[in-house]
Amino acid sequence: MQRRPGFPARLPGAGTAPPRPAPLASAARAPVAAAPSGVGLDSAAVRARMVQKLAAGGITSAPVLQAMGAVERHRFVDSALVNQAYEDTSLPIGLGQTISKPNVVARMCELLLGAESARSGGLGRVLEIGTGCGYQAAVLSHLAREVYTLERLRGLHDKARHNLRPFRLANVHLLLGDGMLGYAKGAPYAAIIAAAGGDAVPQAWCEQLAVGGRLVAPMALTGGQQMLLVIDKTPHGLKQCVLEPVHFVPLKSGIA
Ligand code: SAH
Repeated sequence: MQRRPGFPARLPGAGTAPPRPAPLASAARAPVAAAPSGVGLDSAAVRARMVQKLAAGGITSAPVLQAMGAVERHRFVDSALVNQAYEDTSLPIGLGQTISKPNVVARMCELLLGAESARSGGLGRVLEIGTGCGYQAAVLSHLAREVYTLERLRGLHDKARHNLRPFRLANVHLLLGDGMLGYAKGAPYAAIIAAAGGDAVPQAWCEQLAVGGRLVAPMALTGGQQMLLVIDKTPHGLKQCVLEPVHFVPLKSGIA
């Protein structure tokens, strides 16, 4: 299978979307569909298959593949959607928002681990914009020392708290707030990751990024096409790179 370019490669333009892994075979789905609300579910095998597909699709980072294999995605979606939890698809999580595709979560986490500051000793403090159901925060908790995650919708902030409680992740800090302002109290961050796309990078994010840190975010470029953006903060300033097209929910201001 064709591999996606690693950072800092530049894509020639639209139409170069990463290859879409094939849907899981129905045999792999069967155990998930059979289990009510994920209890007693043999989800490890289904997750292992998802991880194989992520690797085949170009994810090479062992810690990322390990984290994706460890976090039970089916516990973050509605019980009616449990049988789709390990397919490479985004799913509704309420209030018009979606949980990102596993492939996109893994891709963005892998990019974060490429930050200069992560090269010695792994990722330090990470800020996530858009907690949603809390899935990506759980994945990040395996990769970073501390995870600060901001959600602007109270309903989802509460849902994430509920979803994450059984995992007892002491390094995940759930915050209700407008992510466009970042979270100055936790700054500087080794990495910032946004799960919602605007049309400009909020200044607070660049300010709150540590030197050697990396920002990964969807951004609408001229013409409206949303692209994955990587910004590295170097001692000499910000270095920006545009990667592949992506589809994220909009970044909105204020809390609701
Ligand atoms: N990482 C999430 C994805 C959630 S979708 C998961 O794993 O489920 C993106 C989320 O970003 C939505 O919940 C949306 O409400 C939130 N969002 C949009 N604009 C925001 C902002 N300014 N501050 C905080 N959250 C925001």
